[in-house]
Amino acid sequence: MKKTLTTKKARTAKAQPKPKLTPEALYSSPEAQYLKAQICDIGRRLWQREYVDGNGGNISVRVGDGYFLCTPTGVSKGFLTPDMLCLCDAEGNQLIGTWKRTSEFLSHLAIFNSVPEAQAVCHAHPVHATAYAIAGLTPPERLIPEIEVFVGRVAIAPYATPGSQEMHDLLAPLAPKHQSILMTNHGVICWGTSVEDAYFKVEITDAFCRTAAIASHLPTNGTSIPPEKMADLLAIKGRLGLPDARSAKNEAWAEDPWTKIRGHDDSIIEEVVRKVTKEVLKQIGNGNGRKSLS
Ligand SMILES: [Zn+2]
Repeated sequence: MKKTLTTKKARTAKAQPKPKLTPEALYSSPEAQYLKAQICDIGRRLWQREYVDGNGGNISVRVGDGYFLCTPTGVSKGFLTPDMLCLCDAEGNQLIGTWKRTSEFLSHLAIFNSVPEAQAVCHAHPVHATAYAIAGLTPPERLIPEIEVFVGRVAIAPYATPGSQEMHDLLAPLAPKHQSILMTNHGVICWGTSVEDAYFKVEITDAFCRTAAIASHLPTNGTSIPPEKMADLLAIKGRLGLPDARSAKNEAWAEDPWTKIRGHDDSIIEEVVRKVTKEVLKQIGNGNGRKSLS
């Protein structure tokens, strides 16, 4: 009997939830100190790689149960110190911090509240990804394995005022299927399993957009990853435990990436050139060409 009671007691003690820290205690906890240092480090990397300009860009991370640390507004992300960071709740209220939280925190919450796996969010204005965002284009697929495995299909959200409820509502349905989202006429926002992972998604997205933009100016169409080989990449992702909404079996992979990268199908242009040349030669043969030259 005594033994049963002891066991029950032990089980009850085990099931007891950890006492919840006050926001003040959470803000200065070892967990928060570690995450603040990470945010400052990633902020420096964003600025050094010229992914943010002026006081642009913002970073946030989950801390404790239902709280978030995020960067303040109005400061360069290259020169953050841990005491500048803000503690917010899941409604976007700032609880701690002498600096005002980023005005775009609502966009981060759209991701956190729709993707439980998202531990951190990183938003920046890297030149090449933002060039795609102002062109209203998503980067093509099937060109480089790394972006397929480590980022997946990049989405694009229509334009809305930064930090607005409208922007929040546009991002929320995209985030569960996309770790990297271009924001039209604005920049890119990515989520990851850590602050560094969210930053990696930004870095990979921008590097890929840069490569695709350069390739679009080269004189010939290149090759692409054959659609049937995409299953191998998705299988690698699966083994690495990386989520991907695309299914190797059901994905059509219809689009020729080179049509997308150049913004047109070269065969259509060639056909137009052929027709125009034929018509010009016909006109010259009729003597009209000479007439028009006089
Ligand atoms: Zn922004």
